[in-house]
Amino acid sequence: MVKLTGFSKASPAERIEKLAQAGLLSEEGLQTVRDNDTLPLSLANEMVENVLGTLALPFGIAPGFQVDGQEVQVPMVTEEPSVIAAASYAAGLIKRSGGFQTQVHKRQMIGQVALYEVSNKEKATQAITEAKEDLLQLANQAYPSIVKRGGGARDLWIEEKGDFLICYLSVDPKEAMGANMLNTMLESLVDPLEDLSEGQGLMAILSNLATDALVTARCHIDYRFLSRDPKEAAEIVQKIALASQLAAVDPYRAATHNKGIFNGIDAVVLATGNDWRAIEAGGHTYASRSGQAQGLSNWIAHPDQQVLEGQLTLPMPIATKGGSIGLNPSVQVAHELLGNPDAQTLARIIVSVGLAQNFAALKALVSTGIQHGHMKLQAKSLALLAGATPSEVAPVVQALLEDKPFNLEKAQVILEEIRQST
Ligand code: NDP
Repeated sequence: MVKLTGFSKASPAERIEKLAQAGLLSEEGLQTVRDNDTLPLSLANEMVENVLGTLALPFGIAPGFQVDGQEVQVPMVTEEPSVIAAASYAAGLIKRSGGFQTQVHKRQMIGQVALYEVSNKEKATQAITEAKEDLLQLANQAYPSIVKRGGGARDLWIEEKGDFLICYLSVDPKEAMGANMLNTMLESLVDPLEDLSEGQGLMAILSNLATDALVTARCHIDYRFLSRDPKEAAEIVQKIALASQLAAVDPYRAATHNKGIFNGIDAVVLATGNDWRAIEAGGHTYASRSGQAQGLSNWIAHPDQQVLEGQLTLPMPIATKGGSIGLNPSVQVAHELLGNPDAQTLARIIVSVGLAQNFAALKALVSTGIQHGHMKLQAKSLALLAGATPSEVAPVVQALLEDKPFNLEKAQVILEEIRQST
């Protein structure tokens, strides 16, 4: 395989050529990216309601992630500058330390039927528990195709919460995310559950707190890759470990710590056509499971082995089939770039990207500070907002960086001056 290097300095056309040389995309996939062939309006009009057009976002690639010994080139869709650069930087550094190791704890989705006005909850719980096998069979009969694919309803249990008796169902959705699948199964259980509980069904719906779809990514970073100066490397490690402790005790920091993780996760979830609201909702609720929002990742210093250990666990009910995945040509390219992984492998990759993104953000925060890297990108955004053409961007950025602090008005003045002088 051709080594994918020099992406940051290449043009989009050169990057596509590198992908072609590396044999990462089919002719059809290459044509889609060459033509920048995104979602056709006619298709968009079928997907949602009241369509006016489509909204494009930058589609990039973070090359060189090593996940469970396999090298993957990660497609990312994001409007935020520095996210892809940070992911690429962290991926390279972590690869040199052995890459990411991952674990899929389980891969099932949970849904619920909430019952109310149940006068005897104990009796209802017993009746439902005794009918468990019949109820599982009913759920499977409501969605037989997933059973044919080797998936289907796996477990059913009852919990009493407040005024409600809640019947939970867990389902193996195979390659799908499973929302519609579970909702169909759950709705088929409402009548029998009302009969068994002598109560009323309030709602039957999938839960996005996908605790039966937890995925963990780990990495072990050698101190020597953090700085040439061993003392500085040890200091960075100590501060990254402290930063993870800070996110565990302060919800104000936890929210931002986790936002940094989702900078990476959302970009891949979006590129692969998955439901990013579902992934965000599950991740943030999981982060609050102790009763207080906490950082999702954990970083531990091992000075004796000269290794910084990072770990991230969160629900990752990601799909490779279903929803709108098969519809959008760019989404197809994203899956192809990743080597068309199955849902579990894709989940492993996405959690690894989240951990990489978190590492890059924490390292910047505890060493140079986040604005150091962001200043140039902010100046570039201002130059573009002021109306600079591609050839005018570099001189405007340079002038802005030499005259801090800067704002849009200053960018406009500089651009005008440059135009008048040429
Ligand atoms: P779908 O309703 O699209 O169902 C999955 C589809 O994938 C089925 O048509 C299934 O075919 C097909 N499929 C093909 N191969 C496989 C395979 N190997 N394994 C599994 N399915 C396969 O999607 P989901 O049920 O996953 O629901 C996801 C959608 O629901 C998303 O668009 C999401 O945004 C939305 N949603 C989300 C909610 C939430 O998060 N709370 C709530 C409601 C909707 P077949 O039927 O032949 O098996």
